[in-house]
Amino acid sequence: MKGFGNLLEGYRRFRANKFESARGRWQELAEGQSPRAIVIACSDSRADPATIFDTDPGEIFVIRNVANLVPPFETGGGRHGVSAALEFAVTQLNVPEIVVMGHEKCGGISAALTGMFHGAVAGEGGFVHKWMSQIEEPAAEIASQHGTGDDAQRKLEEVSIRQSLANLRTFPFVAEREKNGTLKLLGCHFSIRDGELWVLGEADDIFRPV
Ligand SMILES: [Zn+2]
Repeated sequence: MKGFGNLLEGYRRFRANKFESARGRWQELAEGQSPRAIVIACSDSRADPATIFDTDPGEIFVIRNVANLVPPFETGGGRHGVSAALEFAVTQLNVPEIVVMGHEKCGGISAALTGMFHGAVAGEGGFVHKWMSQIEEPAAEIASQHGTGDDAQRKLEEVSIRQSLANLRTFPFVAEREKNGTLKLLGCHFSIRDGELWVLGEADDIFRPV
């Protein structure tokens, strides 16, 4: 059977190898999950949390979207995919850590920085533009001061991580747990070319490689 972008070949390898060799673990997982971290990452195919953190199924609860953004806590209007996943993982699974991971060469960040989809209709970039309008203020500020090159791109990638952390803290169930010490928040940035992870030190607000 063709199609699935040849994913079925990978599925057959998974069944024959990884699944067979960990059958017991999969039986346990069928009973429930107890992940040790929530990872909020970009949808980009090059920044896969399970690969970067070398985790197995059941270990991390992953929320992915364009440019790893967390909209602020709000109850009206849209269909809150990020909020629903976050609420479930924090309040039902009691996951003790949230990691926001941005990455190098993020297309969403580039779109926000260059304004390339400004005025585009839905289906021609309009959805990306609307989603990325969450960081339009810092994007415009960085573009006016630093242009739209690699340095500016990196600055905005870091801003998106900071903003997601700040927005996470607008969720009462996150803020409450962070305050009483049962939930930790962490920001990091993955550089694709070097395979290097930079972690945000919130005390001095600087990203450093670990
Ligand atoms: Zn991205």
